[in-house]
Formats: sequence, structure tokens, C-alpha cells
Amino acid sequence: MLTQLRDIVEQVSKVDNVHHALEILVQQTCSAMNTECCTIYLANEDKQRLELMATQGLTFRGDTIHIDFEEGLVGLVKRTAEPINLAEAARHPDYKYFPQLGENVYHSFLGTPIIYRKKVLGVLVIQQKKSRQFSETEESFLVTLAAQIAVLIAHAKSQGHRFFSEPQPSVIHGIPASSGVAIGSLWWDDTQPELSDVYPASTLDVDREQELLLLAIEKALTDFKRMRKKFDLELNKDALAIFDLFTHLLNDPMLRNDLKAQIQSGDKADWALRQVVENYANRFAQMSDVYMRERAQDVRELGQRLLFFLHNSEQTTLTLEQPIILIVRELTASILASIPKEKLLAVVSLEGAANSHAAILSRAMGIPAVMGVNSNPDLLNGKMGIVDGYSGEIFVEPNEELLSEYQSLVTEETELSKMVEQALASEACTQDGKRVQILLNAGLSADTSISVNQGVDGVGLYRTEISFLLQQQFPSEEEQVHQYRAVLDAYQDKRVVMRTLDIGGDKALPYLPIEEDNPFLGWRGIRFTLDHPDIFLMQLRAMLRASKGYDNLSILLPMVSSVQELDDAIVLINQAYQEVLKEHKDIVYPEIGVMIEVPSMLYLLSFIADKVDFVSVGTNDLTQYLLAVDRNNSQVANIYESLHPSVLAAMKHIYEVCAANHLPVCICGELAGDPIGALLLVGLGYDTLSMNTSNVARVKYLLRHSDSKELKTLADNALMQHYGKSIYDQMYQYFEDKGLAGFIRAGKS
Ligand code: PEP
Ligand code: MG
Repeated sequence: MLTQLRDIVEQVSKVDNVHHALEILVQQTCSAMNTECCTIYLANEDKQRLELMATQGLTFRGDTIHIDFEEGLVGLVKRTAEPINLAEAARHPDYKYFPQLGENVYHSFLGTPIIYRKKVLGVLVIQQKKSRQFSETEESFLVTLAAQIAVLIAHAKSQGHRFFSEPQPSVIHGIPASSGVAIGSLWWDDTQPELSDVYPASTLDVDREQELLLLAIEKALTDFKRMRKKFDLELNKDALAIFDLFTHLLNDPMLRNDLKAQIQSGDKADWALRQVVENYANRFAQMSDVYMRERAQDVRELGQRLLFFLHNSEQTTLTLEQPIILIVRELTASILASIPKEKLLAVVSLEGAANSHAAILSRAMGIPAVMGVNSNPDLLNGKMGIVDGYSGEIFVEPNEELLSEYQSLVTEETELSKMVEQALASEACTQDGKRVQILLNAGLSADTSISVNQGVDGVGLYRTEISFLLQQQFPSEEEQVHQYRAVLDAYQDKRVVMRTLDIGGDKALPYLPIEEDNPFLGWRGIRFTLDHPDIFLMQLRAMLRASKGYDNLSILLPMVSSVQELDDAIVLINQAYQEVLKEHKDIVYPEIGVMIEVPSMLYLLSFIADKVDFVSVGTNDLTQYLLAVDRNNSQVANIYESLHPSVLAAMKHIYEVCAANHLPVCICGELAGDPIGALLLVGLGYDTLSMNTSNVARVKYLLRHSDSKELKTLADNALMQHYGKSIYDQMYQYFEDKGLAGFIRAGKS
């Protein structure tokens, strides 16, 4: 039966049209299961009914035939979300006879729900004239088939296919990633370069073109691997073959040699690509074997992808007349960097989750963002839209009423910002006088001229990755000195915590692709730099040299998971220090800190207390590792709970152990800048929070309107809750009672 199942899936995967695919499915199922009737119904949630989509064996002339959720056996399968297997359907109390379907000839009935991610999308039914109970093997065959159909339907829906003649949904749901609201025109960048538009061009710098091509190939390979992995989660395996084929073709020495030779003859890389790709595609197109002929299209698609990476290896700045709401497949730091901030009202990303670095960056830039949006961008392009970054909703072509409601929200937001801005310069102090240090998270932006923020007590986290990410090679020691000095200079009388390189995970360097199945559990942060003392020492020397005369540098080590890693890093820091001392006698030894973001460190705090000057809690990764949930994966975004009871318990533990060991501790994850998170952390006892610029004024305002004893009671209550939702609800109530609900708004938890 497994072979039959595979055959059905294979046949269906060859068809583009989903309705046609469903028709093939019912026919093939009848013959595989040796039965006369098979039917697929899909659930129309708006009308609360199941609509017949495809059948073999029932009377269906293409008209809409539907069964209410409350009706008959099919309705029962939908409601209970469980299979029903009956030898004599008519004897079941829920049986209902539908004369228009002509099903009176059938006696036995086996119905199974079509479920995708907990939701019943429809019902798959087989019926037989003979009265008999279907076997267990038949039942599991149908359940497996239903799971395949679920993927097919979910995929079609995510591509914008509408099964029912309903008006286009006017609201689309995604994951709220950066708060704020925006109203404007939705803009999908479909201006990607076409291979057919590339025209002859030659070059004098053959080496550079070869280099560009190699870089594009590497990027494409990494991308295919990523896409393959992503689709692996969602789609049937056959669809994955295309990525394997692309990878195989790209690794083919013949194709690579042909491309190389074409460039060697003086052609620019993109022109060489077009010629070679067309050559290959034509060769495939002329083959007699149908399968091989079809490969011509694959080669063209591959060429198209390579062209994309050829043209996107450098930063481009878009020229836009009007501000827009940008829709992208996957938001990256470089996309955000390529659009002037005043032209960017909000971002909508089809992929990604609330704690990816791009999401953090949009929060830092104060740009509302919604991620993980399941919609067809072509249908949205050019339409008027509202993006609600609090609830994750996108309203397409909203009516007047909604528009004016949101217009007043935008005004309210602006007023709230103005109100909190007034308190920016004053210290963050609770009403009863508890002083909280507010530090800045910086560095995730391409903007190196980081402006002095008079509202902060220093820089709590300077992420150094960006200059490594945006270049074609590792930045030199001099370049790094220049960049770090600008930051240390801007905060001369304040402390600046610079974190050593934290690449890996979702921050892969374009010129150093790292192939790993589990990048977040792999070679990232300190693991990478300890294995590359050359790169690490260069960065340490650059930081130390940059601090000359300012003496305000602290060094922070990311992703440390053991005491040994810390010991090894300290040896290298000492070495770098001795090296710079040879030339610059008066450089002060920096304070050293460790990021607490791998759960193992929770239990090593007392062992490291006398080896470091401070620790900084990275709640983004700590939550990811504590809950075993990928911070970038939109499929599991609902499980990534920043207010999870375990996260809160971990925060309490860290605070207490640090206090007992007199170890200064700061929080630099996103939780520290979140209105609810900040108040809870202060309630737990923390007095140093590091956050993005856009949150500084708000958190200060909130603290100035709170009482530390009251916050302690809130935190104590929160620690007793079993669910993240209860913690959120309790905090929401507090904000509402205090007249501060505008800071969080409903929907976001
Ligand atoms: C964290 O993990 O919380 C953190 C601050 O580091 P990053 O977000 O850069 O991984
Ligand atoms: Mg981290």
C-alpha cells in the first residue's frame, strides 16, 4: 500500500492546478483502495459548512454542494476531528441522507479529517456498496493520505489560492514583531532582474567577475540548503527534489568550468551566466526524453536564482517617491539598510519570526513589523493597507471606518511618543526612588554614526557583527579600530559594552558559509572565535586600541556554555592586551563579561563569579534554548513565549545567584525593552536594563510611574503563574488600571 500511496502522491505533485490534483486524488484512491466512491470536502469556516471539492462515485455536476458542520456523518468527522469507520452508515444516529448526492447505493463509510497544524481543513471520505467494516490498514492508509492532502491544500492557500468564491480576505494575520501602526501603500518588490534582460557586456577585471560569480554560487548553495530545510517541514518530499537538483547542478564541474571559461573570455559575470544557462537549457530542450526536456526549465530557474545573487552581493539603495509598507519574502538587515528610513512605514515579511535579528533591527529602528505572513504578495502589491504591529494584523483596502479608527491610533501613538520623549533626559527612577540604569543596545544597524543618546547611561550591548556581515571579507584591524573608536568616542564618559563576534545561527557571513544542520546549536559565537584565534585576537586588539584615552571599554563574550570556554577566551584577551601594550603603554585593561544565554550557564554562575566583572543576560537566546524553540521559525512562533513561567523562573535564579556572589548583572535581550518585561525584571530585583533606542523613553516613563514595591508584588505573583498567558493577563490588567494600556495594546503577548 505504501507504493500505491507514493504513486498517488507522485502523480498529484506533477499537477499545477490544485483542483485537478484533488480530482486525480479521488480517482487514484478509489482504484488503490478498490472501492467505488471517494470524496473530498473542504471546510468553509465563514459559512460553517463543508463544500464538496472532488468526488468519484457521487452525483456532482460541478455545482456547489455543501453540508453544514452540524449535519450528517461528514459534519461529525469535522467536529470530532476523528475518523469514523462504519459497515452500515445508515444505522448511525448522525447519518443524514442527501438525495442530491445519490449516495443511497453505498453502505459502508470511512471518513477521516484533513488536518493541518491542528486545524480541520476538510474531510476525506470513501464509501462502498458492500456493507463491511474497513480494515485497520485501510484506515491508516486514508489517514496518511489525508495528511498529504492537508499539505497540498495548506500550500495552495499560502500561495493565495481561494477554494471558495469568497471575497478576498480583508485581514491577514501574522506574527507581531515590532509594535506601532502604519497606513500606506503595500509594495512588493517584484523588480528582480530577469535573465532575459541581461545584455552583452565585457570586463577588464576578469578576476573580480570570477570572484563575484563564485560568491553568487556560494550564496545560492546556502539558500537552496536553507529552502530545502524549510520546505522539508511543510511540503511533501517530492517537491524537495528541485533543490537537490539545483545543488547538484551548481556543484557540477562542467557547468562551473563553462561559466569560468566564458568570463575568462572577457564577458561580465551576468552576461556569461545568461549565455551558459541558455546553452544548457537549449541542450536539454532538444532531448528526446520527456524528463530531460523538462529540465530545461529547471536550468533557467537556476540561472535566475544565480542572477539574483549576482546582483544582490552589493548594497543598493532604492529610490522611492512615496513612503511604503514593504512586503518581502524574508526580511534581512541588508533589505532594511537598502531603504531610507523615512520611506519605510512598516514591513511585512512572509517568513521569519519575532526574534530574528531582522525583527530586532526593525524594533530598534522603530518600524512596525509583522512576520510569518501567509499570503500571496502579488495580490497585495499596490493596494492600500494598514499594518498593526501590536496585533500582527494587516488590513487590505480597509473601509472608511477602520481607516479613521487607525488614523486616530496613529495620532495617539505620536502623542504617546511625544509625551514619553519629554521624560527622556531625566533619570530612570521609580516613584519610591529605585534607580534603574538604562543602557542602549546598538550595532545591529548599518548606521555607524551612532548618535549620542542623552537619555541612556551607557551602551549595554554593542553588537559587532554588522560590519562583518555587510562586507565582502573580514574587516581589517584598522577598519575595526576606526569603527569601535567612533562608538567609544560618542560615549566618552559612559561605559560601552562591546560584544565579540557572534556569527553563526542566523548570522552567517556571506564570505564564510558554514554548512550545518543545526546552526543555532552549532559553530556560533565564542565557539567560532576560539577556533579562529587569528580573527578573535584581531578584534580584541582593535577594541583595546580603540579604547585608548577613553578607558570606557568592557568586553562581552557571546554564547559561552562552559567555564573552559571562558578560561580560553581570557587567555586570548590577555594575549591581545600584552600585544597592544607593546605599542600603547597606557591602555586600561577592560572589564570582562559573559553573556548568559545558554542554559548551562545558569548553573555555573557561582563558578565564574570571580573570573569576570559582570554578566549580561541574553533573553532572546536563553528563551530559545530553554524552550527548545527556534527564534526564527514562524511555525513555532506561538511556542516562543518571552513571558514563559520557566523564563521568569530562570531570571529569578540568575538574579539571586548574582546577588549572592556580588556579580553585577544586566539584561540585554529584548525582554528588557518590552514594557511588560522591563517592569517584571525590575520587580524581580534587576537594576540594569539594556534596550533598543526606540524603547528607552517608554521604559523610562513607565518606571517613573511605578513603585518598586508594587513591581515586586507583581513579579512575585507572576512567578506563581503556570501559564505565560496568565502572566500577560495579570500585567495587562496592571497597565490598564494605571491608565498605561496604550503602551502594550491588546493582542500582543
Ligand atoms: C540575546 O540572545 O538575547 C542577545 C542579546 O543576543 P542576540 O540577540 O544578538 O543573539
Ligand atoms: Mg544571543
